[in-house]
Amino acid sequence: MDILLYNTLTKKKEKFKPINDGCIGIYSCGPTVYNYAHIGNMRTYIFEDTLRRIVEYLGYRVNYVMNITDVGHLVSDGDDGDDKMEMSAQKEGKSALEIADFYSKAFFRDFSDLNCVMPDIICKATRHIDDMIKLVERIEKNGFTYKISDGIYFDSSKFENYGQLVGKKHMDGLKAGARVEFNSEKKNLSDFALWKFSPKDKKRQMEWISPWGKGFPGWHIECSAMSMKYLGETFDIHCGGIDHVAVHHTNEIAQSEAATGRKFVNYWLHAEFLIGCENEKMAKSAGNFITVNTFRKKNIDPLCYRYFCYSAQYKKQLEFSWEALEAAGKTLANLRAAILKIKKENSLDESGAPNKKTPYYEKFLTAIGDNLNIPRALSVLWEVLRDNSIPPREKISFIADADKIFGLDLFKEYSQVILKDEIMEKIRDRENARKAKDFKKSDEIRKELLKKGIVLEDTSSGTQWKNS
Ligand code: AMP
Ligand code: ZN
Repeated sequence: MDILLYNTLTKKKEKFKPINDGCIGIYSCGPTVYNYAHIGNMRTYIFEDTLRRIVEYLGYRVNYVMNITDVGHLVSDGDDGDDKMEMSAQKEGKSALEIADFYSKAFFRDFSDLNCVMPDIICKATRHIDDMIKLVERIEKNGFTYKISDGIYFDSSKFENYGQLVGKKHMDGLKAGARVEFNSEKKNLSDFALWKFSPKDKKRQMEWISPWGKGFPGWHIECSAMSMKYLGETFDIHCGGIDHVAVHHTNEIAQSEAATGRKFVNYWLHAEFLIGCENEKMAKSAGNFITVNTFRKKNIDPLCYRYFCYSAQYKKQLEFSWEALEAAGKTLANLRAAILKIKKENSLDESGAPNKKTPYYEKFLTAIGDNLNIPRALSVLWEVLRDNSIPPREKISFIADADKIFGLDLFKEYSQVILKDEIMEKIRDRENARKAKDFKKSDEIRKELLKKGIVLEDTSSGTQWKNS
């Protein structure tokens, strides 16, 4: 089956043609581990996970590589300002290594709680400094670099197709001679650091010896060096959030192709932003900073958020609100309850082989193959569920198969949907009453909650609840 992907490079949906029949290379820009990832970041990782799941579902093997940026990402995209990692280390009174370790672990906990499949290769920037130095040497040898007081820079005016990802041959105002705003020594505004020198007046925690002097790599060179190391000089798919198009990915293309003389990546896929209530992008600095941990603290199953993300196709902006998340959580709970009912009433399990020669399967496959249209695929699932002409056994095997892509744990018996704080309080009161063997009180609370439509059940892993 064909799959159409919207390629930022060509600005159109294209039929995906892998380089090798055997294995597809996918590179995803991983987190900068100076803080928790917010749910906007996680929207992008969920999109990338569905991409991976879909190509695997279609029978390809995947080599999925994700980096960890633990050095070199500066506060400003203009190669100025402090290193985010060093800043965070200073703020928290820890070493940069400790900060990276702590936030990497927190990231992968969120990642797996959202049912994202672990990357095949996770590569840390600080473990690949030699690869980065070698790559900068190749770029230098090909005549694309120059040295200024704070580092070795890439001369973007020498790269013929600079800016192709944003759709113009050279981005307006960024050519040689344009007004240089932040670093007056740069030849062109769009030039960027490949290697930065350690500042003379400050001791950095993370610095390395290089042919140009002591310092650290630029953020963009990290992704070029690590992606090419694990996936080859030309690979299939590179993805990330839309904010990376104009600078990070534009620069990755320029420096990689300047080094190798070959096309770097065939398909560039970018997810649109999750926006907060004020219609601002969900940025850590904007203060509207919700994490998967915020959900856990509120007893919300992170998969409610995964379901919420499916309310818009990845190329559309999505606005977050607690009301919308609550609605998504309830719908997911209802979906699981409806599936469970069919299973129980018909004594079925999920092991049956799906019948793929049906019109609804065709609709489902068309949706996922049309640039990952998960909202449409999900609506097919609801149609199947409601269609009385489809035998229950067929429904269950279709749902089990479709969940390989959705990753929603659709056969989970209990759904921790969002419960209002006062209800959570009641559940805790009841647990305390039970511990104190006050069964009268515990029974009263159970009945009170039942009236509100919440069924409690005491299981070996604690109290669980679902909608009645
Ligand atoms: P960072 O840790 O800032 O490098 O970001 C990690 C990933 O999240 C990148 O692919 C970004 O493009 C993406 N990203 C950042 N902010 C958002 C947002 N508000 N919505 C969706 N994706 C985002
Ligand atoms: Zn990157």
